[in-house]
Amino acid sequence: MSTVENESDKPAATASQTRRHFLQRLTIGSVAVSATSLVATAAITAATPSVANASLRHPDSVKVFRFRTRNNVSCRACKLHHRYTMFRSRKVAKSNRAHPGCDCALEPQWIKRSTFRRLFKATGAIETGVVDLRKV
Ligand SMILES: [Zn+2]
Repeated sequence: MSTVENESDKPAATASQTRRHFLQRLTIGSVAVSATSLVATAAITAATPSVANASLRHPDSVKVFRFRTRNNVSCRACKLHHRYTMFRSRKVAKSNRAHPGCDCALEPQWIKRSTFRRLFKATGAIETGVVDLRKV
């Protein structure tokens, strides 16, 4: 009789263990999910001040955009064009590429406010947003 009872207990015990394990796994999983969501929100909140810090790191500077030819495969026309042009915004730069097939990378560059005034405002290039450094 005792052996029969033991056999009948074993499946019940294993079933409860598996249920317990299942519940433990569930709670561990939910904790892991909440941890990752916490990490994600922390990353988002950390990313937002870093954008604000970007302007703080360049206190008396203005952001302009230039195409990059270094560490990049680009044709001769691009190299000549990108060396001497500077753009007020990303949008202006994209509409003023060297040629239709140009896919050179755009890079932000911080210049002094006085330099910006000399390049963009004194030459009147602030209206078009493009400066040809050969003509300044
Ligand atoms: Zn190009």
